[in-house]
Amino acid sequence: MELAKKPIFFVVDDDPVTRIMLCRFLEKLGYVAIGYVNGLAAIEALDLGLPDVVLMDAKMPVMDGFEACRRLKSRADARHIPVLMITGLNDDESVDLAYEIGAADFITKPIHWAILRNRVFYLLKTIEAERRLSLAARVFDNTSEGIAVTDERAVIQSVNPAFTRITGFAPDEVMGRSMNILKSGRHPPEFYAKFWQTLRATGQWQGEFFNRRKDGTIYPQWANISAMVDPTGRVAHYISVFSDLTALRESEENLLYVSAHDILTGLPNRHVFHERLGFALDEARAGEGQVWVLQLDLDRFKMINETMGHDVGDALIVEASRRIGLVLGGQGSVSRLGGDEFGIMLTGSEEDTRSVTQLSQTLLDALRAPLVLYDVELFVGASIGIGVFPLDGEDVTTLMKNVDAALYHAKEKGRNNFQFFRNEMNARAMARVLLETSLRNALERGEFLLHYQPQMRLATGELSGVEVLMRWNRPGAGMVSPGEFIPLAEETGLIVPMGLWVLRTACQRAMAWFAAGHPRFRVAVNLSGIQFGQPDFIEQVTGTLRATGMDPALLELELTESIAMGDAEETLAKLSALSDVGVELAIDDFGTGFSSLKYLKRFPIDTLKIDQSFVRNCASDTEDTAIIRAVIGLAHSLGLSVIAEGVETSEQLEVLRRYDCDQIQGYLYARPMPEEALLAFLGRMRQ
Ligand code: C2E
Ligand code: CA
Ligand code: CA
Repeated sequence: MELAKKPIFFVVDDDPVTRIMLCRFLEKLGYVAIGYVNGLAAIEALDLGLPDVVLMDAKMPVMDGFEACRRLKSRADARHIPVLMITGLNDDESVDLAYEIGAADFITKPIHWAILRNRVFYLLKTIEAERRLSLAARVFDNTSEGIAVTDERAVIQSVNPAFTRITGFAPDEVMGRSMNILKSGRHPPEFYAKFWQTLRATGQWQGEFFNRRKDGTIYPQWANISAMVDPTGRVAHYISVFSDLTALRESEENLLYVSAHDILTGLPNRHVFHERLGFALDEARAGEGQVWVLQLDLDRFKMINETMGHDVGDALIVEASRRIGLVLGGQGSVSRLGGDEFGIMLTGSEEDTRSVTQLSQTLLDALRAPLVLYDVELFVGASIGIGVFPLDGEDVTTLMKNVDAALYHAKEKGRNNFQFFRNEMNARAMARVLLETSLRNALERGEFLLHYQPQMRLATGELSGVEVLMRWNRPGAGMVSPGEFIPLAEETGLIVPMGLWVLRTACQRAMAWFAAGHPRFRVAVNLSGIQFGQPDFIEQVTGTLRATGMDPALLELELTESIAMGDAEETLAKLSALSDVGVELAIDDFGTGFSSLKYLKRFPIDTLKIDQSFVRNCASDTEDTAIIRAVIGLAHSLGLSVIAEGVETSEQLEVLRRYDCDQIQGYLYARPMPEEALLAFLGRMRQ
């Protein structure tokens, strides 16, 4: 029996023997039994406390069982109490009457104990079930959660008061209608498809979604929906229990607002960082992008904080966050993860190992600069761990764990360095950092030199000029090709001082040769788009010409097609200024870049250099031959001179001659060479 307390029986019988035996019997079963000599005594006793079951003899003096039963059933507080009538054997009339006045059951005298026991058990079971039902009904009515019971097609069969309170729909407005009337329209059909799929497969769905109230407002709700199956296993009902999250959301947002930011630095905190990272990963997943995470930890912070006091420690944190912000300059998002730890997140497909490496190095440089506090110079420095989604973790937890491991590795490596979670990235990043550091020093250390490659005028076979090509004699590595260091120099901005050095040195050397009596020829200098983009670029050129005394007409600047991609007016203005000064302008690697011929007409260009890739196969590939022919024709029609680059064979030379190319440059005529070799070359030519 599952009743909370011992069931209480009233035993009403005027016959003392039956009454006592009944009481004993019930007590033996573990119940409480109270005997009454007639109906009236029992009814009066109801005021002192209600029994769970009444066993009532039909025939008694003063008040018989029927009358007592009738009275009991007329009391609101006692109506639910089952009455078991005890009638005489074969007294059909009494039985009918008993049922009529609401008795639950009857047994006959003489009492058959086994039958009595069964009846009693059955009655108690019914009571228990009813209690549960009424309890459920009370919960149903009083709970703050909205409840809707639907049939298997989601047609609403009953709703509770909270349902009405939350949705605004009264029961009679929704009964018999589909749950669909609550749909917010905020979720795509796939959401509902998945919802039904889960519910059908598991009989259960829970989660958060948006619904619409009767007044049209949309609200977030947490819902728990379960299927109720009938005895054959088929779904008979769905029960949806949901709560309105609006209020919770509002208080959460408030809480979040207060707790989202670190008071000391004003940066978002770890919680926000993880949340943002979660969003970023979702987005990256959808768009197949990647997300870089840097975890930065100040070196020696603990020591300083403990020996110099928390004020100094706090000042250090603030200064560190300021410097990090300056380096990032609005790129990515920074948070203070706690203590002396900062998290940086970079999204977008442009971020690659190289730019992240560069950023990390810049961060380390910025944090290594000494900080003066209370007249004391503090050197802090930092270590950085780096990881990238999806390679190093497909969720926030894994990714952060691996970034943390990378940070630990960086600390282990002796601090003031950064480590990628992936080893192969470390090797590449390391090589790059080393290259960058030595490139920075190369200019001061005089490690750059120039090689010169002669160019020939096809019509006469004479030297028409030389192209100046940069070389880097890197200690311990030998001659490094410009293909390796020019891109890095461009990225780091080092190309600007380097390019200026090339321009000045080339002009100086040319003036020296001419002064030594060598015939005057054109000197072609390569320019990076970065140099061209400098605001004072024109002054750099005119200043160099003035300082070296170089004849502008003998200086040719080789530009790539990429300059045409910048602001057209500005480009035109700069080119015109150069042209006015008298320097020659060439388009380098023609045909590989920005393939618009429009600018050729607009820009004051003198020479077009056909890229080696077209020359390479011009003797065998008819398509390349056709391109060469067309480019030469086009250039001539615009009044431009054409130089073919990378001419290595006499067959190539023949093709170029046939189509009237003006000049050639390539191994066939001469390789790039150092100054002494060039002077020897010039000497041979004069003989
Ligand atoms: P570029 O301007 O197209 O220079 C021509 C490149 O082709 C040079 O490579 C040259 O050595 C090579 N070359 C010349 N003739 C032949 C040939 O017959 N066959 C083959 N296979 N190659 C030939 P280099 O010296 O390695 O220079 C590579 C690039 O580096 C240059 O391409 C240029 O874009 C850049 N560069 C070199 N020096 C400077 C410089 O001072 N400033 C700037 N901004 N860029 C430079
Ligand atoms: Ca060139
Ligand atoms: Ca070229």
